[in-house]
Amino acid sequence: MTSEAIKDLTRRYVMNTYGRFPVALDHGEGATLYDPEGRAYIDFTSGIGVTALGYGNKPWARAAAEQAEKLGHVSNLFYTEPPARLAEILCRRTGESAVFFANGGGEANEGMIKLARKYSFDRYGQGRSTILTLKNSFHGRTITTLKATGQDVFHNYFFPFTEGFRYVPANDLEALRAQDQGDVCAVMVELVQGEGGVLPLDRDYVKAVEALCAEKDWLFLADEVQTGVGRTGTLFAFQQYGILPDAVSFAKGIAGGLPMSGILANEKCRDVLGPGTHATTFGANPVCAAAGLVVQEILSDEFLQEVREKGDYLRKGVEALDLPCFGKTRGLGLMIGVEVREGWTNKDIANTLIENGLLVLTAGPGMRLLPPLVITKEEMDKGLAVMKKALG
Ligand SMILES: *Cc1c(COP(=O)(O)O)cnc(C)c1O
Repeated sequence: MTSEAIKDLTRRYVMNTYGRFPVALDHGEGATLYDPEGRAYIDFTSGIGVTALGYGNKPWARAAAEQAEKLGHVSNLFYTEPPARLAEILCRRTGESAVFFANGGGEANEGMIKLARKYSFDRYGQGRSTILTLKNSFHGRTITTLKATGQDVFHNYFFPFTEGFRYVPANDLEALRAQDQGDVCAVMVELVQGEGGVLPLDRDYVKAVEALCAEKDWLFLADEVQTGVGRTGTLFAFQQYGILPDAVSFAKGIAGGLPMSGILANEKCRDVLGPGTHATTFGANPVCAAAGLVVQEILSDEFLQEVREKGDYLRKGVEALDLPCFGKTRGLGLMIGVEVREGWTNKDIANTLIENGLLVLTAGPGMRLLPPLVITKEEMDKGLAVMKKALG
């Protein structure tokens, strides 16, 4: 099918819930994507932080295909090997204790919220169910995770929302302390706010929140749906902050492009969700887990060191272009935010870059760059050259 035919068919039969860019994509190699007519695009998006291994990765495709031929699904009423092995690796590499597998980020966060409320119910009974989240956060699109999201624009249309969330400004410990009204069970944060504009939390603040949580017996919940799985240059961002959250959600990059998510819990929280309290039909799918095992194999400690180096290279490269529309850059690893100066809008810039063969994302009022973790220096240089030509 041609690009135009794909776009027409989509518009006719798929609900119009996404503000799509006018590009259809057909195949890819590394960090380069191609439309059906063969036009190339350098990818600084990874499909919103998902395709950590880029496109056309043979070991990843083979592992998924072989597992699909062997056994595609059996339900969680039986045991299978790939998710058990993936859970072991995730625990060993993080110091967490056990995993629950789900399918998407919002769903993982729902599970983490259930875990926090049940932990508190088991110890203290009812009435201690409030979860504190940060202003400008993003936690998902379900009715509950919309309400957990600390941005008013998301609290519309779908009333009534789930109760039990209050919002505090990021990096303000006193504001958090002031919420201690006897009804709190947990604090949930993104260590680098993604959708909100690529805003890393301060290290001292995060350490102090962990200590406050321990003092009050509040759970420290990290939403690592975007920051997890190597994106920030360590397997999880919390490892750079020197903390061990009570629970961590992950999704986007975990299976390199197949739908999978989950929650990691520490020793204290690993048995909170006992038999019958939480489940999902598709969770721990063996094909997704087999693909996830290849992601873990490739994301060695040396590879993660390279992610940090590539992140520095790309940030410096963007700053060195000294473009009139861009201000400062920020971020961790290959999760990069670029400020957009007054007089420009991020949507217009994204459209211009995409027209010129470079795929980028927006976040908050700025630009967001999330290239595949396997991106090469040559591909980064090509992307920077597009920026220079299109925006210079
Ligand atoms: C993307 C994202 C989510 C939602 O994940 P879905 O897979 O779209 O449900 C939740 N939290 C954060 C931090 C995210 O970046």
